Amino acid sequence: MKGFWLFLCLSVVSFVVKGQDSIYLWPTNSGKFLSSTFGETRSAHFHAGLDIKTWGREGYKVFASRDGYLSKLIITNQGYGKAIYLKHFDGTYTVYAHLQRFNSEFQAIADSIRINELDYSYTFEQSFEEKKLMVKQGDVIGYTGSTGIGPPHLHFEIRNSFNQPINPLSSNLAVQDTISPVFSSFLIEPLNINSKVFNSYYPSEIKPISVKNDTTYFDTVFVSGDIGLSANVYDQANQVNNKYAVYDLKLRSNNRHLYHEKINYFDFS
Ligand SMILES: [Zn+2]
Repeated sequence: MKGFWLFLCLSVVSFVVKGQDSIYLWPTNSGKFLSSTFGETRSAHFHAGLDIKTWGREGYKVFASRDGYLSKLIITNQGYGKAIYLKHFDGTYTVYAHLQRFNSEFQAIADSIRINELDYSYTFEQSFEEKKLMVKQGDVIGYTGSTGIGPPHLHFEIRNSFNQPINPLSSNLAVQDTISPVFSSFLIEPLNINSKVFNSYYPSEIKPISVKNDTTYFDTVFVSGDIGLSANVYDQANQVNNKYAVYDLKLRSNNRHLYHEKINYFDFS
């Protein structure tokens, strides 16, 4: 059997990047802890923002992350629930979802539209004129909740001027994270009738043999034919037990780059 060995190198860049001029304020007073990060895979989409923990409770303050103005309010039974879209003066947006309620000014606007224009409809979506309803960074715009989808948390997004969600942790926003990602195993799978892994037609799960200086080492793997690799890898942050998608994942073979995943933004379409 023709064999070769693969060297897998897991990049240990956690989700901290710098480089934007815009200064964002952490959007709630519930603490800087996440239950989900940007770009994690969901049933039919990528996760478009950060899920900020609210410890099973509702009613934490939600702050305008930057100066700007109200762009849109929505209330839906599913998805984002009660959500606020702010637009900022550089054309970017921030989105705050699953709110328990809006602040009294926005709530009055929402109620007036629902009662006067929508025959008391609970659900609605309303966009607003540019630069009419201004907000300052730090203004309380609403309160955290669990509308749309529970459990309670704040879903927070930053979108660029093309309405593409970008990784909020590529702004000045950050969580404390000194813990390297964990590469717990990978699965090697024969992809067709001519492929074998360790002379077998069945997939093989490979565990690490050691971890040194943030590098995870695996033993020699013998394969022939076309094979697929699945990585079982996650990241963690300080003081919480949540498992997150890794920010930056690379695969190299004999100094060749085979795969690189790093999600800083994506397109909804
Ligand atoms: Zn979310």
